[in-house]
Amino acid sequence: MTFEELGLRREVLKSLTELGFEAPTPIQEQAIPYLLGEDCDFVGLAQTGTGKTAAFGLPLINNIDTAARLPQGLIICPTRELCLQITKDLNVFAKYLDGNITAVYGGTDIRTQISNVKKGTSIVVATPGRLVDLINRKVVQLGQVKYVILDEADEMLNMGFKEDIDMILDQTPIDKNVWLFSATMPNEVARIARTYMTDPLEVSIGHKNQSNENIEHIYYTVKERDRYDAVKRLIDFNPTIYGLIFCRTKNETATVAMKLARDGYNAEPLHGDLTQAMRDRVMERFRSKELQILVATDVAARGLDINNITHVINYNLPDDIENYTHRSGRTARAGKTGQSLVLVNTREFVKIKAIERQMRMTFTQGQIPNPAEICEIQLKKLIDNTIATEVKEADIAPFMDQILDSFKDLTKEEVIKRFVSAEFNRFIEYYERAGDLNASASKEDRERPDRKNDRQSRAREEGKTRFFVNLGRRDGLNPGAMVRIICDATGLNSKALGRIDIMTSFSFIEADDEHTQKILKLVDGTEFEGHKVSIEVTAPGQGGGGRDRNDRGGDRKFSKGPGSKRGPGSFGGSRKPGFEKKGGFDKKRSGGADRGSDRGFGAKRSKY
Ligand code: AMP
Repeated sequence: MTFEELGLRREVLKSLTELGFEAPTPIQEQAIPYLLGEDCDFVGLAQTGTGKTAAFGLPLINNIDTAARLPQGLIICPTRELCLQITKDLNVFAKYLDGNITAVYGGTDIRTQISNVKKGTSIVVATPGRLVDLINRKVVQLGQVKYVILDEADEMLNMGFKEDIDMILDQTPIDKNVWLFSATMPNEVARIARTYMTDPLEVSIGHKNQSNENIEHIYYTVKERDRYDAVKRLIDFNPTIYGLIFCRTKNETATVAMKLARDGYNAEPLHGDLTQAMRDRVMERFRSKELQILVATDVAARGLDINNITHVINYNLPDDIENYTHRSGRTARAGKTGQSLVLVNTREFVKIKAIERQMRMTFTQGQIPNPAEICEIQLKKLIDNTIATEVKEADIAPFMDQILDSFKDLTKEEVIKRFVSAEFNRFIEYYERAGDLNASASKEDRERPDRKNDRQSRAREEGKTRFFVNLGRRDGLNPGAMVRIICDATGLNSKALGRIDIMTSFSFIEADDEHTQKILKLVDGTEFEGHKVSIEVTAPGQGGGGRDRNDRGGDRKFSKGPGSKRGPGSFGGSRKPGFEKKGGFDKKRSGGADRGSDRGFGAKRSKY
């Protein structure tokens, strides 16, 4: 099937040819002919990397009057990065149609966006919060909208944008077409489909919630204390890795990235505590492959659209299985293959089983490579790099006599051995004392995963903790913002949260008991629109719901919760050896080794 056969107009086909898109991807093949027709609602269950932006972008560009002054197309997506990416893609698709496409997103000066919208625009690509703001300021008028596209709908709902989306959709004409794209189909997304769509065509690339077949999922069982060393071994075993390491919290992200950098790896963190400018810089460095490893929270990595990621490493599994789909979907994009590696401790086997059931896929059990295997791989890399090294004949010529004279008493074999050893000894010495990091899953976990899971989910439904937060309506807080504060800081999914009561000057929020310490530790001290957030568990009888007698306003002095001390973990130990990498990621030393245990390194002498 060709793009021409799908029925796109000449101007659009021309830009596709220039882009080098030869044939439609499966989601494009199914979506485009249908979306080119009139009056159609559509649900596409597809992850990023499947070509979904073009699946909705091409028919949208094709169908609207690109010279229109008021928006005919509205695309709503969860993050600034995705918003910019979609806008960029649409501009390329619309190159020969003079399309006027405007991006509106938060975290940046609103005035430029206001003037852009006022100049007249045929398509608005927006994040929900900023769009609501512009609608309230009567800058964006949605009365002429014919097509609304909700991209990554599950992510938007996870981020607490439910009310904003409802508000936006209420502003659009009743007879609009709604096209919804989502990687997964939780109940809240199904509700949106039911509420705003009539008889939509549902197209699923792979099974609902199913993972991309080009991804190999591997889990490794390690002792909790060996998690970090295990990650280092996985990196050392894959020297050409271009990888994304996912952590659950900002603190964990910062800590892991800091340790990796300290240990000589080319790694940096990406999380919500960084300023937007810092995040942009890190992402750009990663995108350009100047940075080899990005350590990120789920929230920060949203919208990161990079095609060649070879490995996703789950330092810890996400609390929500759907986030695993998003994480692993960062690799094996655009027809490539990739690996999603998961570290679990000896009691977390149930989580692997739960993901397998929900995503209808299977993990293979991996073994953390042993020191001999890693040394072999690193040695091969060293040899390959040496062979590929360009000799600058003219520069080395004046020294050659002296060099040859120095080595005249050594055989060729001895010279090779010494050169390799000069580079490699540090590595061997380091791994010499490192033992086996593989652990076995606890018997109980392996034998009774389902019962354990049931118990856990029952506990979650029953037990919620109620928190007091020092900010309220007058600080600009609303339920969506409250969810984002908690979820951004903790990496939790909005499902872990319960009832929210926003008062004039303070608020209450409920969350599953198990996350209490995490919430106290990570939310307390964060910032919301210039205010410092203070959160604590409500005292018995406090915050009983509805309007609260404590809402006197003004009183902002609340003691911090027990887990409110913030800051990175402690970093003991010295810098570990690494390799100078010759090609690709050569800005920093790449490759380090885990802290050696005092166990022996049996295979070393026989191998080298
Ligand atoms: P998306 O799922 O929209 O994020 O797209 C994933 C990547 O695939 C993007 O880099 C697109 O530019 C690329 N892509 C989308 N459709 C095609 C196609 N038909 N042929 C080649 N590349 C494509």
